[in-house]
Amino acid sequence: MFKKILIANRAEIACRIIRTCRELGISTVAVFSDSDVDSPAVKLADESVYLGASAASDSYLSQNKIIQAALSTGADAVHPGYGFLSENASFASSLRKSGVTFIGPDPEAIAAMGDKIESKKIAQKAKVNTVPGYLGIVDTAENAIKISRDIGFPVMIKASAGGGGKGMRIAHSESEVSDCFRLAMNEAKTSFDDDRIFIEKYIEEPRHIEIQILADNFGNIVHLGERECSIQRRHQKVIEEAPSVALDPETRDAMGKQACDLARAVKYRSAGTVEFIVDQYGKFYFLEMNTRLQVEHPVTEMVTGLDLVELMISIASGEKLSFSQDDVTITGWAIESRIYAEDPKRNFLPSIGRLTHYKPPDEEQGSVRLDSGVIEGSEISIFYDPMISKLITYGEGRREAIDLMKSALDNYYIKGTANNVSFLSAIISHPRFLGGQLSTNFISDEFPDGFVSIKPIGEVKNRIIAAAVLIHMRIKNRERNTLNRFDTHLLPESEEYVVSINNEPTEVKVSLGQDSKILIGTDIEIEITSNWEIGDVLLVANISGQHYTFQIDRKNPDYIITHSGIESEIRVFSKRAAALLSVMPEKVTLDESKSLISPMPGLLVSISVESGAKVRSGEELAVVEAMKMENILYSNSDGTVKRVLAAPGDSLAVDQVILEFE
Ligand code: ADP
Repeated sequence: MFKKILIANRAEIACRIIRTCRELGISTVAVFSDSDVDSPAVKLADESVYLGASAASDSYLSQNKIIQAALSTGADAVHPGYGFLSENASFASSLRKSGVTFIGPDPEAIAAMGDKIESKKIAQKAKVNTVPGYLGIVDTAENAIKISRDIGFPVMIKASAGGGGKGMRIAHSESEVSDCFRLAMNEAKTSFDDDRIFIEKYIEEPRHIEIQILADNFGNIVHLGERECSIQRRHQKVIEEAPSVALDPETRDAMGKQACDLARAVKYRSAGTVEFIVDQYGKFYFLEMNTRLQVEHPVTEMVTGLDLVELMISIASGEKLSFSQDDVTITGWAIESRIYAEDPKRNFLPSIGRLTHYKPPDEEQGSVRLDSGVIEGSEISIFYDPMISKLITYGEGRREAIDLMKSALDNYYIKGTANNVSFLSAIISHPRFLGGQLSTNFISDEFPDGFVSIKPIGEVKNRIIAAAVLIHMRIKNRERNTLNRFDTHLLPESEEYVVSINNEPTEVKVSLGQDSKILIGTDIEIEITSNWEIGDVLLVANISGQHYTFQIDRKNPDYIITHSGIESEIRVFSKRAAALLSVMPEKVTLDESKSLISPMPGLLVSISVESGAKVRSGEELAVVEAMKMENILYSNSDGTVKRVLAAPGDSLAVDQVILEFE
């Protein structure tokens, strides 16, 4: 067994790997860039080595620096985590030459599976079902149109070197092919320095279901069942679960067998994942194989009781798998939510900044797990993936895992960057999610205009009103107590209120006592008790015998209450003040139609118009690159460009005006 392992990664996955190393009594070396000097991973590791500047190319992608760090600290093995160098065959072989073990498959297997065209060819040979398409490089837009026509629309135009959902576009008709081809090619070039493109059939309404496999050096290969990862935005996963509601035992066995066959065909060793898409009729097709630990590996760990990092380490150290396929059991249900610093209200654009407040939910052995690599004060920077953490819940059944996730998300308090916690809550509370009717289009089907604020209704609304009244009374009581020191004749606050929730008033009557019975309207009575104190950001309340959590922010005189994925702006009025509401002036909203603003921080790649140009609605105006994704900004209406205020190559701030219209 190894004595010392260097983790060639950062953030949550570095912490995750260190945790298992500790349990195994293996010492750890963390590596870090300028941005990560004080990161939890560095603190957690026994030793750490500085790599260089924050840009990944100067640090986590620098093979030489990492190999030097391994040699200088005497590490016998390197765990690459995911991303960065984890699927880089030349890194694996350079390590091998330096006498350091790479905790992963052989470079040959990485290379064979790293290329989507090549891996599809190998899969076909191994009799694995593959997506119909053209298995060659498509080099011109004209060819792309011809091939797409032959395959039949819709088609998926993909970068052969692709990963992370980049370099991938769907063309629904011939007219879309040129644009999609150009964008996929540009993205492939900037992200992977490899602009080879291929085209395959776009499978409609598919589910993404993947099989976790494990293989040792002795030809033993097992699969650990599936993970369903259909909840995606930008072709990237946000919620995953194990098992999948969509698989019957026969399909599970068939997919598991094909995954193992493919692993055998490339002499695979270590943990790996074979990804499939499953169509509406239950037919499954191979997508690609990821030759590394997946982000979503915890759901498999929760339902199998295995530690995948431990197994990767023991396989890499030359040990035999100690169990066979028949020993693998799947028990219960696990769900993972990826917490991202991104704005679901702005097309999921990444957000950067410092986590000024960060209070994750408590972990509970066996039922709530948090894989996180940040603490309060950590900075989410432009340099890396904006994932903050992964929240995993486990229950005996799917419903239990979902309910635990709902409550854990309500307890997840993050301020300082935009984040997707409320959006995740909205997804898992959605009837279609509860019913298990998933597809990779779930988010675009159910949130076609993005994540617009949901209005609370029914029980959720009543709970929010009760919570608002409770905090309002606590605050008023304190004010009264302070004032009473000077004036003992002040009358107590009225017990009748009007709660304005997103500008809709509801009358509320409160019976005496601190923890109150609240009568909403004339008929609904709610009893609410809580130990909440002024200043607490979380209000944990007992409402009619059940525990609920609310996030409380104050934007005087409003309360912003977040509960069950719904953010509500609330003002509580005394009855008298409410009567005067109708004479309050309305807030005027700004007209943004006269300018094109950058929806995200990024690099202005190109501008397609000049001042004086007449533009039509839907015409391309500019391309902005952020986190290596190119985004086209289109005109919302017909008009004339008055002034262009930015130039290609400019770094844009969010909301920066790129051009103005007349
Ligand atoms: P990456 O390596 O960038 O993650 P994948 O090939 O794994 O790319 O695909 C990512 C996601 O894109 C899949 O989970 C699926 O949602 C979607 N996708 C990819 N290929 C197809 C296809 N042919 N038809 C439908 N959806 C697809």
